[in-house]
Amino acid sequence: MKFNKRLSRGGGITLPAAIRRQYGLEAGEKFGITVNDEDGTIMLQRSQGQCLFCQNDKKLIVFHGRFVCAECVQHMDADVSEREFSNSFEGRVEE
Ligand SMILES: [Zn+2]
Repeated sequence: MKFNKRLSRGGGITLPAAIRRQYGLEAGEKFGITVNDEDGTIMLQRSQGQCLFCQNDKKLIVFHGRFVCAECVQHMDADVSEREFSNSFEGRVEE
């Protein structure tokens, strides 16, 4: 994705809605700003966010560009494992 945006009088740039939707960016989220002195590139890095599922802001990892907390990752892992188990069980019953 590439967008052209104009700097506002107040120094703000609005991130396009498509990016905010795709990456779950919410108002109030914080970003680190890094400027590359050599080519002038300005990078934004999310420095704070919330879990996509439970809005927890602790122990976050980035997965496909979205924040997910460690607890939800564990619950998903357990849930998926159980489903795989029950599916294979149903599969055996059908045979
Ligand atoms: Zn969570």
